[in-house]
Amino acid sequence: MIKPDAVANGHAGKILDQIIQAGFKVVALKYTRLSEERAGDFYGIHRERPFFGELVRFMTSGPIYAAILEKDNAIEDFRKLIGATDPQKAEAGTIRNLFAKSIDANAIHGSDSNENAEIEGNFFFGADQRF
Ligand code: ATP
Ligand code: MG
Repeated sequence: MIKPDAVANGHAGKILDQIIQAGFKVVALKYTRLSEERAGDFYGIHRERPFFGELVRFMTSGPIYAAILEKDNAIEDFRKLIGATDPQKAEAGTIRNLFAKSIDANAIHGSDSNENAEIEGNFFFGADQRF
């Protein structure tokens, strides 16, 4: 997901280009806005964390781009491309280093495992929306 801050700041096109130039294939892409319920479900694993309310508030604050990406070693390579959760700690040249302002408004989400990528892809896309 390209998160609401990056979309609102006009960075979505540059981020998508960086992803494609890094060798990821865009299999599915959608511009949408999460409801409170959908955002809570998506980040359900963090429901008990102190920042959950703020996370849901932020993720529903504006539209996002959701995508399914394909590449060899995609999970690890994408985490490297996006950088650390806290943009202050993200390596130079990473998407969060370039485009994120804070740990909550951190520009982009990446799946943390193949299993979660499958779940998160199904959360946004039907079988007839992937090419
Ligand atoms: P994401 O899942 O969005 O790709 P991540 O895997 O780098 O991010 P997670 O630990 O899964 O980080 O946290 C999910 C999101 O919750 C983070 O992207 C961030 O926006 C928010 N978050 C995580 N930790 C904190 C924190 N300590 N304070 C505020 N927000 C946080
Ligand atoms: Mg995560």
